[in-house]
Amino acid sequence: MDALYLLDCYIKEFEATVKDVTDGRFVILNKTAFYPDSGGQPHDLGVLIKDGHEYPVVYTRKMDDAISHEVTITGPGLAVGDQVTGRIDWNRRYHFMRSHTACHVLSAVIHKKTGALITGNRIGDAKTRVDFSLKDFDRSQIKSFEEKTNEIINQEIPVEIKILPREEALKIPAIVKLKMELPEIAEMRIIDIVGFDAQACGGTHVRNTGEIRAIEVIKAENKGKNNRRIYFRVETAD
Ligand SMILES: [Zn+2]
Repeated sequence: MDALYLLDCYIKEFEATVKDVTDGRFVILNKTAFYPDSGGQPHDLGVLIKDGHEYPVVYTRKMDDAISHEVTITGPGLAVGDQVTGRIDWNRRYHFMRSHTACHVLSAVIHKKTGALITGNRIGDAKTRVDFSLKDFDRSQIKSFEEKTNEIINQEIPVEIKILPREEALKIPAIVKLKMELPEIAEMRIIDIVGFDAQACGGTHVRNTGEIRAIEVIKAENKGKNNRRIYFRVETAD
């Protein structure tokens, strides 16, 4: 699987070769910048273009060790060996990148302030949510989470992608804030908000916290005894 977004989240268009087609509409390429639905971040949309003909990509998901693009069948269709141009819906993706990086900042703020573990997250169009495990929760804390998150955003901190051997990655303090086990993989992809937070993650992120602009907490609720949920949105980009 050659997932281009793992090392460069800003690839909007790329050339690739069709490796496999199932039922005429599930397409696997030799490489792709399309992000599959995973890790709380929704899949990309976009088009595959061949000979000027556009095939809309309506869903992208991981399938075993490959990324499958579901296209709408129009025109002559795609076949193994075809050369295509892939173009992702950048506005949608960039919104998810900003929201996902905001998620890391907010999660790190919550973790630093309370020691809570993150139990889940879901990035969305209108709002994004972070779930965390915290027993004693005082609602006045929410404002301080929001303020601290915006402070970090305003500091315009670089966000770097690092691929590290597992052993080395696990030495980073608080590298795992998720309440789940990491897969047994030899190398880990780390999203490093330099000097503030490093987190193992396979998602797409902005290069600088300043690109998030600001977050606004919309709602907070209790989901069971120790589980808390915060919904936020990122400020609209120009
Ligand atoms: Zn992430």
